[in-house]
Amino acid sequence: MERAGYRNRSRFLRDAAQHYADAIERGDLASLPDETDVEGTLVIYHQHTAERRLPDLRHSDGIDLRSSTHACMTGSHTCVDTMHLAGLAGSIQQAVAGLRRSEGVDRVIFVAAPTRSSGCC
Ligand SMILES: [Zn+2]
Repeated sequence: MERAGYRNRSRFLRDAAQHYADAIERGDLASLPDETDVEGTLVIYHQHTAERRLPDLRHSDGIDLRSSTHACMTGSHTCVDTMHLAGLAGSIQQAVAGLRRSEGVDRVIFVAAPTRSSGCC
């Protein structure tokens, strides 16, 4: 629990329960049926030279890009793009697979938003 950064046992148990419920309900991106609606954040670490070859997710069918940022991580000698998006699981999976095959792309991670039945937004 402490290695994961938690000091509060009840918060740890709450987050663990939420994570477990998500895993049972939705699984990870690869296990979802293609037509499932998903929201989440895509993180792409890449070399600046790969930027021109990255797929333009603003114009991808089945993906609604809500916002994106770019940062140059000079200490790590890498660029990172963070994209908040919604779309069909199959479309996002295809985009992730294409990015992972791209030269100059070092790491691609998609974090699905936790599912809640009610909340702030
Ligand atoms: Zn950069």
